[in-house]
Amino acid sequence: MRDFTLKSYKSLIVALQEAGYAFQTFEDFIVSPIQGKTVVLRHDVDELAWNALKMAQLEHNRGVRSTYFFRIVKQSNVPEVIRQIVELGHEVGYHYEDLSLTEGDEIKAIALFEKHLAYFREFYPVRSVCMHGSSTSKYDNRQLWKSHQLADYALVGEPYLSVDFNQVFYLTDTGYAWDGGKYAVRDIVETGFELRFHSTQEIVSCIQKGEFPEKALFLAHTLWTDSFFQWNWLHFRELLRNNLKLLAKNNKGVARIYRKLVESYWKS
Ligand SMILES: [Zn+2]
Repeated sequence: MRDFTLKSYKSLIVALQEAGYAFQTFEDFIVSPIQGKTVVLRHDVDELAWNALKMAQLEHNRGVRSTYFFRIVKQSNVPEVIRQIVELGHEVGYHYEDLSLTEGDEIKAIALFEKHLAYFREFYPVRSVCMHGSSTSKYDNRQLWKSHQLADYALVGEPYLSVDFNQVFYLTDTGYAWDGGKYAVRDIVETGFELRFHSTQEIVSCIQKGEFPEKALFLAHTLWTDSFFQWNWLHFRELLRNNLKLLAKNNKGVARIYRKLVESYWKS
């Protein structure tokens, strides 16, 4: 059976609901966390914004609220999609990459950050932001918070800075697998949990056995699709990308070619 489809996403949500998990948006989880079994569904909309809308509708139909982080690039920043996701009752946050956009210039970056934040606040009263990994950039977007405070921008949280991942189990679908962390460059967290999963079905089984942690934060990108053609194309692309990323770690020539490919993709 194909994994990372809307069908498998729904099976995950249903399993969590049947096991008694409550769902909170990221901002609520930070500001007023509820006791007991709780899950946060965080979506980084790196691209394919219309897929995000499909996930948002599915969640809404199950009575679930989640959090969507949008980038400023046009593959993510689709006003119609953002508007509809807000209407469905979800949280919208800013998936910032201003330091890599300004090539490490912190003064320009914070000004750009403010401008972009103000833009997303036209859609939703944004209170949380989340860095984009910018895997091919040498700048870590979180550096911005070495010299600035989230609170000064009326923000309550940043997943990489505001959550103790020894208490909250973190799962990410990077590289079309729940154990694809080796392909991630920056969206990695320190964790005290020993659990490892590959497929969504493995997570569902663990939840059904009552062995899943009490608190969890899922990062799901927008590659989940029921479309046979899109699913195959994206799997092929991710396979290629993951292997390039691994090669690029040890080979400067490959790293340069990979960086060029990524740059031209986002500029297209
Ligand atoms: Zn991202």
